[in-house]
Amino acid sequence: MNLFDTSGFPPRWSCGWAWAEQPWVGWMHILSDLVIFAAYFAVPIVVMYFVRQRNDLKFPPIFYGFLGLIFFSCGTVHLVEAGIFWWPVYKLSAVAKLVTAVFSASGVVLLARVLPLALELKSGAAYAALVDDRRKTEAMLKREQFLLGTMMKTVPDLIYFKDTHSRFTHVSDSFARFMGVDTPESVVGRTDYDYFPKDFADETRAEEVELMRTREPMIGKEEPERSAAGEQIWLSSTKLPLLDESGEVIGLFGLSRDITPQKHAAEVMEIAKEAAESASRAKSDFLANMSHEIRTPMNAIMGMTELVLDTDLTPSQHDFLSIVYESAETLLSVINEILDFSKIEAGKLELTAEDISLRDEVGNTLKSLGLRAHTKGIELAWQVHADVPEHFLADPVRLRQVLVNLVGNAIKFTSEGEVVVEVTLEKMQSDVARLHFIVSDTGIGIAEHKLDSVFDAFEQADQSTTRQFGGTGLGLAISKKIIQAMNGRIWVESTLGKGSEFHFIVELPLGEVPPDGTSLADLDLSRIPVVIVDDNATNLRILTEVLQSWNMTVQAVANAPAALEAIHETLASEGELPLLISDSQMPGMDGFTLAEKIRASDELRETVIIILTSGAHSSDAIRCRQLGINAHMMKPAKQSELQQAITRVLGRRPLPSRPAAEKAGLDRPAGRSLQILVVEDGYANQKLAMALLEKWGHQTTLAENGQQAVDAWRTGSFDVILMDVQMPVMDGLTATRTIRDLERASQTGKHVPIVAMTARAMKGDREKCLEVGMDDYVTKPIQREELLNVLESLVSSGILSEHDDAEPTSDTATGQGIASGQGTASGGLIDWNVARKNVQGDEEILKVIVEAALDEFAKLMAELTAAMEAGDAPTALRCAHTLKSTANTFGATLLQECSLAMETDARSGDLDGVRERQPEAERLCQQILMELKDRLASMDSN
Ligand code: ADP
Repeated sequence: MNLFDTSGFPPRWSCGWAWAEQPWVGWMHILSDLVIFAAYFAVPIVVMYFVRQRNDLKFPPIFYGFLGLIFFSCGTVHLVEAGIFWWPVYKLSAVAKLVTAVFSASGVVLLARVLPLALELKSGAAYAALVDDRRKTEAMLKREQFLLGTMMKTVPDLIYFKDTHSRFTHVSDSFARFMGVDTPESVVGRTDYDYFPKDFADETRAEEVELMRTREPMIGKEEPERSAAGEQIWLSSTKLPLLDESGEVIGLFGLSRDITPQKHAAEVMEIAKEAAESASRAKSDFLANMSHEIRTPMNAIMGMTELVLDTDLTPSQHDFLSIVYESAETLLSVINEILDFSKIEAGKLELTAEDISLRDEVGNTLKSLGLRAHTKGIELAWQVHADVPEHFLADPVRLRQVLVNLVGNAIKFTSEGEVVVEVTLEKMQSDVARLHFIVSDTGIGIAEHKLDSVFDAFEQADQSTTRQFGGTGLGLAISKKIIQAMNGRIWVESTLGKGSEFHFIVELPLGEVPPDGTSLADLDLSRIPVVIVDDNATNLRILTEVLQSWNMTVQAVANAPAALEAIHETLASEGELPLLISDSQMPGMDGFTLAEKIRASDELRETVIIILTSGAHSSDAIRCRQLGINAHMMKPAKQSELQQAITRVLGRRPLPSRPAAEKAGLDRPAGRSLQILVVEDGYANQKLAMALLEKWGHQTTLAENGQQAVDAWRTGSFDVILMDVQMPVMDGLTATRTIRDLERASQTGKHVPIVAMTARAMKGDREKCLEVGMDDYVTKPIQREELLNVLESLVSSGILSEHDDAEPTSDTATGQGIASGQGTASGGLIDWNVARKNVQGDEEILKVIVEAALDEFAKLMAELTAAMEAGDAPTALRCAHTLKSTANTFGATLLQECSLAMETDARSGDLDGVRERQPEAERLCQQILMELKDRLASMDSN
């Protein structure tokens, strides 16, 4: 078939006619076709252009291909149509139309398949789901709008949205009400400046600008505001920046809540809290006052009971009264604890920071408890590890109190075994050390559920133990408060029936090393062989560590036969005898028998022996002397004492300042027997002076105050007057002046030497004494050698003429003396070394002054209390003064310091100051009384 054959088609003329007759019809045809063709061509191009403008509509290229295909094919038909006017080949036209139709149809079919793909519509169902989704989203949006609307309408909190210029864009109804307007809409477009004072609006605006800049939310800021009604209210406001989808800040929104009721409630609570605190303080003050009030009659009860106990009583009367006395003592210690606790509760715990030597502090504290432990047959050992520094800044009284309480409890609740105190260094930070104290025992233990509560006030792990052991349940509560005040922590670990471990950790700043402080590390004991023998493994371990830290060559053995063997071995291998440090009490062969064997052996006789005694047997000292034991010391021995003892017995280093009393020749009395008037109001000092003088063969007469002295001087004849300075009725200076005046008036030329005894060893005191006519001066506590020297110098200076009517009585008592420095029985508050030194190691005199002091401390405290009640400053001053000098006699430094402070206060008329210190003095006195009694008991059993 010829494609260009036109036969069989409509005659050409019909078209040609139209063209010939009416050419505008033809042109209309052509133009229309051309326009249609152009339009079809433009459609895909326009579609593509606009679709490309949209980033989110992404069609695959094939979509554009088919779109183009359809429109181009339709357009092409019209182009062909237009061309037919010039080249009317009908068949071609038909073919062209057919091709176009095919393209269009297949384009449509393909497009129908491609379009869903391009629109990511997988199916009709998917499309329906899409529509459904959309509907749901709309519903959700509506609901959210509803919720938001409800919230904005009903929530009482003030909700608002602002633009970046801090103009309100949307606010809740409550906000509108708060602003005092009718509808939320009327707030829109306004700012804080329209409603609040300028200052407040400025501040708010600045805050909001900052918030939008930093995007930092502002949470719960409490601010005072005025409500529309003009009331002062408090709002808690939270504001956050408002961000658009791209993360740009477009404003902020906030929520403010009226917290006025809470504020008022908090104010009421604060007032209630203050009231409660002041009530608690009042309670504590009341307790303190009550304790004080109870204590005053208690002193009388105890004092009087003691006085009656000293009289002739039947044995059962003595027993009954002893029970009264012991119960009174217990009651007093309970009262003291309550007072201390209430003081701490009332916030009156103030810690001092004094330079302390840790090992001395721990050692001294444990010494006072050693006797108690040993009486129960318990080992008491302690160790401050070698890396723990020596000098700290701490409150020694409170540290001691905690240790006494923990170790006291440990001893109380342990019937056999040991109590060990260990101090380790936890951490060292520049000049602060964190110390860990551990007090462990092998006692009854504490049930697990009680481990925390034992630290609560009046709590005891097992109430039934109260009857057996006594106690108030306050000790640990007080200790906890003290440790907390030191920023430390205290806790206990324990197994019922096995024992307890009390721990506390405190951080203490390092103290200054005193310039003359000798460090244990300075000691040169290196490679000296030493054999230590102790049946207690802990003691053995601690001793070994200590001696090894001094570089000694240590052999530690657990029994006496092994010790003998070790000494033999050392002799054989080293060619020299080792130093032997032995426990006194050991099963099988004890320390004394061991020493006896050594002294009996030709080979070992020269062994240098140090014995550690428990102090429970007062005959220990005598046995030691009999066996020629080089040194003996009471357990637990302080490192410094052990060091001193070793250096002394080995002659390694001279003892630091041996007490002058130990020097030979000082035991001689002053030439002849003298008539001496002792003028002294302090009982202990009276006894001490008189006992000393009488020992030297002198006759003594006592006057208790200046007036009595003057009277005695009138009626008697004295070689010497020993005159206290501070006394009641008439002081020593006035008495001396009076005597001197009377001497002058008598014109006999008589001049009785007067020696001042005063504790006020201050500059100018001596001058004052000499000024009123005294001849010499001794300081209290009276030192035997000083008194001797003074008496001798009176003789040698001719003031006191020598008579030869009496033979000097030599002092035989020194044989019983215990050389100080050997560190036997040293007290907690009492320094027995000082006390012994004051009596030149004479146990007999020591006993006399201990007895005297027992009476005197009780009497003075009662007198002081009475003076305080009467507001009698002079008597308080005298009591404090005498207390101080008696304390001085016993080296009881803490009491001495406390009394000195009371004396200073009383002198300046500050009775409140005295009153404040009085409980502390009471406490110290009570403890000293206990120590004195312990001492007396051990002396009596000797
Ligand atoms: P107190 O000893 O006066 O009763 P504390 O506060 O010192 O009061 O101690 C409280 C309680 O803790 C004691 O009653 C005792 O039950 C228990 N406790 C304290 N220390 C020990 C210990 N070392 N072993 C066993 N129990 C102890």
